[in-house]
Amino acid sequence: MTTPVTDFVTVVEVAPRDGLQHENRIIPTDLKVAWIDALSETGLPVIEVTSFVRPDRIPQLADAEQVMARIRRHPGTRYTALVPNLQGLLRALVHSPDAIAVFTAASESFNHHNIETDIEGAFERMTPVIAEARRRKLPVRGYLSTVIGCPYEGWIDPGRVASLTERLLALGVDEVSLGDTIGVGTPRQVRALLAAVAERVPLTRIAVHFHDTYGQGIANVLTAIEAGIRIVDASLNGLGGCPFAPGASGNVATEEVVYLLEGMGLPTGINLPNLLAAGDFLRPALTHPEMSRLAHVPRTSRWLDPERPQGDPTPGGLC
Ligand code: MG
Repeated sequence: MTTPVTDFVTVVEVAPRDGLQHENRIIPTDLKVAWIDALSETGLPVIEVTSFVRPDRIPQLADAEQVMARIRRHPGTRYTALVPNLQGLLRALVHSPDAIAVFTAASESFNHHNIETDIEGAFERMTPVIAEARRRKLPVRGYLSTVIGCPYEGWIDPGRVASLTERLLALGVDEVSLGDTIGVGTPRQVRALLAAVAERVPLTRIAVHFHDTYGQGIANVLTAIEAGIRIVDASLNGLGGCPFAPGASGNVATEEVVYLLEGMGLPTGINLPNLLAAGDFLRPALTHPEMSRLAHVPRTSRWLDPERPQGDPTPGGLC
């Protein structure tokens, strides 16, 4: 096991892909591009821009080409795209993403419902995509979903997740993002999962992807950080959802993750007020209020100041 030696935490912004794909109302391409440009001004190190899936499967992301072509790329930010298969990879390559992402679930049943194949079938699809990306020296992220719970199978064995993670890395994936897709895990499951994974692969290659469905997102991020994880996926405003809990909270909110990490003295390079401004930018296009609590804090709050005292025990009234 290799333990990360850095305090810096890489926050991966997944709202433009993972967040928007759960939004019912189609966001106009112009607005998406302007919003992603605003995200680029926040210091985010990685933005997952879109997905090159079949447009009829996810109409919200049918403008993948236009969005990739039109965003202004910030030199300090990596712009990535999800690709489901070789056709998707070829479409993405035209727009030179800085990395691509492939995906499978850790649950056979979830794969069957989501991508109409089992885990072996998902690996058969991913293998040539990973090989072609590697041939072009393009970094690859592997998403492993339902790593804690599955709506059909219940709890998932951490050992199974560890061996699938090892298999993805052996295929040439650079980093594996472990997703609690339905957000059912608590720190107890997160600890057990990461202990099992750490026995097989270095945690420097692992990202965590938590959902707030049951309100456990931030607790689970903290648990993962304490276990040595230094790559955290998050979605601005908590955008996103859980396909099996309609109306439920989505991904853990980027602004809440940044507040947590910076407050703990773990640098992210992200400017919180700019991040909130980027969130405000999209608000008029949403059909629901933000799911993150921090999005509702008055922008004049002195606790949003990037220079706020770190770890200073300020006396205050009971509240
Ligand atoms: Mg998600």
